[in-house]
Amino acid sequence: MSQAGESLPISQELLQILACPACKSPVELRGDRLVCQGCGRRYRIEDGIPIMLIDEAELPEAPERTGS
Ligand SMILES: [Zn+2]
Repeated sequence: MSQAGESLPISQELLQILACPACKSPVELRGDRLVCQGCGRRYRIEDGIPIMLIDEAELPEAPERTGS
C-alpha cells in the first residue's frame, strides 16, 4: 500500500463532476456517502465507485407519521 495523504473514498475531482441523477444537483461527501444537495438522496460508494443510481439511492428521512 503506497497510498498517501487523504483517505477520501473518492477523489475531489470525481466529486466535482458528479451530479445527482434525480435532480442534477451537486453532491457532497459525508462520511462514506454522497449526499445530494438538492433532494437529499444518499448514494453509497463501493470500492471507490459512487453508485449514482436513483434506484440504489437512499431517500432522505421523510417526515413520517406513525399513528399514536
Ligand atoms: Zn438530488
